[in-house]
Amino acid sequence: MIAIYPGSFDPVTFGHLDVIERGCRMFDHVIVAVAQNPGKSPLFTAHKRVSQIQNATHHLANVEVDSFDGLTVTYARMRKAGVLLRGLRAVSDFEMELQMAHTNKTLSDDIETVFLATSTDYSYLSSSVVKEIAKFGGPVDHLVPQPVALDIRRCYAKTPTH
Ligand code: ADP
Repeated sequence: MIAIYPGSFDPVTFGHLDVIERGCRMFDHVIVAVAQNPGKSPLFTAHKRVSQIQNATHHLANVEVDSFDGLTVTYARMRKAGVLLRGLRAVSDFEMELQMAHTNKTLSDDIETVFLATSTDYSYLSSSVVKEIAKFGGPVDHLVPQPVALDIRRCYAKTPTH
């Protein structure tokens, strides 16, 4: 079974990587699909986000990283995936995730959404939290892979916060 793990990954965190590793144990092939989301004005380009994830998943044999735009279910059908993988951190994620899963089900009845509960270690962790800390010069090395931490520092060194 092929699973797609779609998201913004702006940037990828240890929380995402935990979902990817566990997904790789459950499915034959996991495609991490970076949503290009031009509307969200991301910190990193889709190309950069793909290479950050590729770097962090070299040790996994059955993972592939790609980017896509348009509907997730259209991309999933094109890649012959039967599952959309998503992570759930807290009740606050639940409503939005459930709405999205139901919507996707109406668009493509043969694609199932599977939720993985976050590891307790990462239940507070999101890409926005990482960016918020980095913006004010705080350490993020315990939240994201080392090369990503460097990329973020470089980014904010160029962007004055006031
Ligand atoms: P999106 O913009 O689509 O929500 P994200 O990159 O923020 O993209 O998240 C992608 C998926 O990973 C979502 O299902 C999100 O709930 C999940 N996720 C994000 N952070 C964590 C975490 N710390 N633990 C588990 N799942 C997470």
